[in-house]
Amino acid sequence: MTDTTVKPYDVAIIGGGIVGLATALELGKREGISIVVLEAEDRLANHQTGNNSGVVHSGLYYKPGSLKAIMCAAGREDMYRFAEEHGIAHDRCGKVVVATNASQIPKLEELERRGRENGLDGMERIGPEQIAEREPHVKGVDGLFVPQTGIIDYRQVTEKYGELFEAQGHEVRLNSRVTGVNVGADLITLETVSGEVQARNIVNCAGLQSDRVARMCGVDPGLQIVPFRGEYYELVPEKHHLCRTLIYPVPDPRFPFLGVHFTRMIHGGVEAGPNAVLAFKREGYKHSDISIPDMLTYGTYGGFWKMAWKALICYVPRG
Ligand SMILES: Cc1cc2nc3c(=O)[nH]c(=O)nc-3n(C[C@H](O)[C@H](O)[C@H](O)COP(=O)(O)OP(=O)(O)OC[C@H]3O[C@@H](n4cnc5c(N)ncnc54)[C@H](O)[C@@H]3O)c2cc1C
Repeated sequence: MTDTTVKPYDVAIIGGGIVGLATALELGKREGISIVVLEAEDRLANHQTGNNSGVVHSGLYYKPGSLKAIMCAAGREDMYRFAEEHGIAHDRCGKVVVATNASQIPKLEELERRGRENGLDGMERIGPEQIAEREPHVKGVDGLFVPQTGIIDYRQVTEKYGELFEAQGHEVRLNSRVTGVNVGADLITLETVSGEVQARNIVNCAGLQSDRVARMCGVDPGLQIVPFRGEYYELVPEKHHLCRTLIYPVPDPRFPFLGVHFTRMIHGGVEAGPNAVLAFKREGYKHSDISIPDMLTYGTYGGFWKMAWKALICYVPRG
């Protein structure tokens, strides 16, 4: 039963990752509006946000003039400013992109062109000697140094967003997975595992569950999330010195990934990864994490088979 004595919120945001909390903090600046963030887990940033490579991207790869390129450049500088202002661990250490053979040089040249058009001042084309000066254990035939790239603790950023949002007078509810949405004429009723919540508007920031949350709201997003897990190796402490900053390959345009990179982490250590492995569960971090409903969802989805076919074609040897 709905508790009619509880005042509805103006906005309920579903999902307490970086997107949910950034949205919350921005909306929270408006006067006289009440907002709640509903997060399924017992802490913020427990999924993609708290498990990613921790890189502040420069915008090198994006098509000049595209929304992604514009957003990435603006977001990067906002992120560094926010980190400075709030004492969040970060380091604008720069990265090197390394061509390991001559066939990768045209792609590197294209990246350099994009980077210049995307306003990456101070970017340098570096030869084998300069690569070795920056990263003594890397061998390459050609390279780019991008000074704008950095590393950060995105979990800490999200927690700080949460703290500032609560200081605006709003609410974060953890352990509040949304399991059902009832859209009424004036109000939306959200069923959560910790009780009902009513709101006038909802914002779906549910990350890997966002397609399901959209469907709960009666919206067909026209797509389905197919989970891929990014797996990383950690270098043993005796080998940390092998990587000073961030080391990236020239990306293969056939794949939607940047390629396996070496990332110095903001709290120490070096990771090598990620690969991209089809996962048997959304938000499944171990090989043993299996969800039959998740597998059935993508197994019966035409888009998944289309993607699998494309991937297969990419692997067919040419020539
Ligand atoms: C392997 C990998 C490496 C990456 N590396 C980088 C990087 O180096 N730099 C970078 O900028 N980006 C990186 N990204 C991308 C970045 O991590 C994501 O774009 C970002 O974290 C997405 O944030 P989000 O808030 O949308 O999702 P999430 O962080 O996944 O948050 C979604 C939240 O919604 C909650 N939720 C889900 N369903 C419900 C429900 N029904 N009710 C309530 N809550 C719910 C979840 O518990 C979760 O906390 C990487 C991504 C991956 C996968």
